[in-house]
Amino acid sequence: MANGSSRVLRGAGFTSSKHRESAADGTCRVLQRSELIGGGKRTLAVSVKSVSKGHSFREDLAVMAVRGVNWMSRATGRGAGTVAGGRVGLWIDPDLLAKLARGRTIVLVSGTNGKTTTTALCAAGWGGDVATNVTGSNMPPGHVAALVGSTSERVVLEADEAWLANVVRATSPRVVVLLNLSRDQLDRASEVRQMAERWHQCLAAPENAQLVVVANANDPLVAYAATASSNVRWCDVATSWMADARSCPRCTLPLEHSDNDWHCSCGFAKPSTLAATLDGVLHVGSEQAELDLSIPGDFNRGNAALAATALAELGVGLGGAVARMNTLSGVAGRFTLRRWGRHTLRLLLAKNPAGFDALLSTVDQGDSDVWVAINAQIADGRDPSWLYDVAFERLRGHRVWCLGERRLDLATRLDYADVDYEIVDDVTSLPVSAAPVEMLANYTAFSEWMARTTAC
Ligand SMILES: [Zn+2]
Repeated sequence: MANGSSRVLRGAGFTSSKHRESAADGTCRVLQRSELIGGGKRTLAVSVKSVSKGHSFREDLAVMAVRGVNWMSRATGRGAGTVAGGRVGLWIDPDLLAKLARGRTIVLVSGTNGKTTTTALCAAGWGGDVATNVTGSNMPPGHVAALVGSTSERVVLEADEAWLANVVRATSPRVVVLLNLSRDQLDRASEVRQMAERWHQCLAAPENAQLVVVANANDPLVAYAATASSNVRWCDVATSWMADARSCPRCTLPLEHSDNDWHCSCGFAKPSTLAATLDGVLHVGSEQAELDLSIPGDFNRGNAALAATALAELGVGLGGAVARMNTLSGVAGRFTLRRWGRHTLRLLLAKNPAGFDALLSTVDQGDSDVWVAINAQIADGRDPSWLYDVAFERLRGHRVWCLGERRLDLATRLDYADVDYEIVDDVTSLPVSAAPVEMLANYTAFSEWMARTTAC
């Protein structure tokens, strides 16, 4: 029955009518009026009750379409079954994401790097049944698929940075986690300062005044965006990549960076009121816990700190959350050892200078062989010139094997970096190493190698 419409039933000796009014909170009031009219005697009963708003026919049809199309996608091997169905569902019901989000407690995670891992850490730390877009499909079709796939009240979704404002509007999250902002796919994405401005405007909107923002205080672009909110929990986590924040996002003058601090002469500076700090121990509010993650890297310790701070806002105790995060050993195939014939390799996804910067810090301490695979398809960004912003000099002392469709661009970059390299035209010619190989691959190259390898 549509909002405000009345339905009248007539039977032997009675009439009954219903009138429905929808409320903003998703419930509706049903006014029922019944009259017995037999034998000249009339009895009038009017009842008013609030009921949960039922699914509309359009919503039900859209949900069925999401399930059906995604099942077909998986069954025919055309995809992971997380996007095609969501697209069809949103075409049938453009408000499907908002309807599926209603009544749930939602955490959104956004940023250029670390979204998928932080989302997985947050879901693991929360514990129990958590609806999440584990495959990293981070636009509304992927969110729809995740919410159709689970009725859990607990939801953690990673959101593409360019889609964050739309997803906030649709899902009314309780907490938004902002990790970092750096250049990425500049041939098709916004310049990074424009992205910060879009986040800033989203968080300044009056309708978002209640949501809690968990933000990385060490990234000036994130700090600029988050200061639009009066509800920020600042996290002091190590952030090594500062090359996209050399000038002040507020006034454009040069920023002063020193150790773990930054400030501008205009007064814009790293926030000093911190909700979480991470040195040897993680402190969140009045609690503290030892982070002993199974996944590598200081950047992942920072991701875990941000996830734990978000969970603290939901009343999740720090000790339990961290204990559950510590057991997470891999995220969508990343970080874990994988096998390919007689080769054993640790597959790492890095798709932009900041991502390489973070992962090279986990590679350059040993002397393992390193395979680097670079493609330049649409999902990677067509322009591979960003390779010149990656400090490949840190790979000196390793043997590096250049793979992927842009292996010659990579080899040229390594030549300038004075790194020993081999160009691999035929992957079957790769020598077997005694120790596991570290493999860095950008987006579509990573997907190819995920398909080619199996879990150890
Ligand atoms: Zn300034």
